[in-house]
Amino acid sequence: MADHVVTLNAGSSSIKFGLFASKPNLPRPVASGQVDGIGADMWFKARHAEDASTTQRDLADMPRGDGHRAAIDVILGWIERSFPDARVAAIGHRVVHGGPDFAGPVLVTPDVLTCLGKLAPLAPLHQPHNLAGIAAATEAFPGVPQVACFDTAFHRGHCFVSDTFALPRRYYEKGIRRYGFHGLSYDYIARRMREIAPLEAAGRMVVAHLGNGASMCAIENGRSVASTMGLTALDGLPMGTRCGQIDPGVLLYLLQHERLPVDAVADLLYEESGLLGLSGVSQDMRELEQSDDPRCREAIDYFVRRIRHELGGFAVTLGGIDAVVFTAGIGEHSALVRAAVLDGLEWLGVVLDAEANARHDQIISTPASRLRVYVVPTDEEAMIADQTIDVAGLARISAAA
Ligand code: AMP
Repeated sequence: MADHVVTLNAGSSSIKFGLFASKPNLPRPVASGQVDGIGADMWFKARHAEDASTTQRDLADMPRGDGHRAAIDVILGWIERSFPDARVAAIGHRVVHGGPDFAGPVLVTPDVLTCLGKLAPLAPLHQPHNLAGIAAATEAFPGVPQVACFDTAFHRGHCFVSDTFALPRRYYEKGIRRYGFHGLSYDYIARRMREIAPLEAAGRMVVAHLGNGASMCAIENGRSVASTMGLTALDGLPMGTRCGQIDPGVLLYLLQHERLPVDAVADLLYEESGLLGLSGVSQDMRELEQSDDPRCREAIDYFVRRIRHELGGFAVTLGGIDAVVFTAGIGEHSALVRAAVLDGLEWLGVVLDAEANARHDQIISTPASRLRVYVVPTDEEAMIADQTIDVAGLARISAAA
């Protein structure tokens, strides 16, 4: 039986999974899929990487109370039946917050779990579900190493100025810091760029991870120098439903004068703001692009304005830029957003190739452009698998295999 790694990304109502065989450089994907509707009518779908064949199953008749455990049993049961020669040698989990102490992936122990549980208030939408996934997988596969891979870890090398808010120092010591997120995606992109464009990868890059969650990262020689996200995944760019950068005085006003309860403010900032709040129509960029409603155009304009603002800031922080990389759902697929972000930036050295941009080519700048612009699909699951193989100490299949 060949060693395989399962990756799990547990959210509130869904668990995404990946199955990888170990291989040099990056692990080889074998299958992927997800269970949706946890706690309600569950639904399973999966895809074999080799022939792209898919499986779908309605799980509405399954008991609802078992939550993540039931979903993980479905996933692991499907893997066992579909790949009888695959031995699950380790399970890697996406964990959104690693706090100040976790600067890399770790083997999960009871002490690690206790530390991670204490970070739940910093990522209330994700952390509790990530940890429920670890608990369920540990129960289902006792004895198999479980590895926690963090969205914050890639940014832990930031200098103090990138890592802090201008609050009294005691809050920094208490862990109120600019952690940054999407680190698994940025780590993957930094490694991928070493293959695609080694010169730029060794230089200064700005990577824009523009998905339903969105952030940007300044990377120098493969290391994160600054992130637009802060203590929580609310700061920086506006997102599907999250507000992004906001004057903290707005929050004081809502609490003191509008007398909104704290939970209502949290819902407002996490669930009702961003592209959805601004447009009043949708959080989905595809719908915003197709709509004639002027509010949709304004939501896109605000999104683009914030990206350009951060791009300018990072260009100064890095002392110049050698490459800009777009990734994640919007970054990979929206030619309109990419063109708007790069509009009129010839002074920065960017000359966009409109046709290459429309085709979503890997390079969307012209040969005359001093600064190269790339579109690179991200793969957080492959990054989790890679880190899990390392931490669990699994032998990678030799290059000849
Ligand atoms: P992600 O969170 O990375 O899956 O990205 C989700 C976002 O990508 C959503 O806002 C989608 O509307 C957006 N997206 C996906 N495909 C496209 C597309 N073809 N054009 C514009 N936006 C897209």
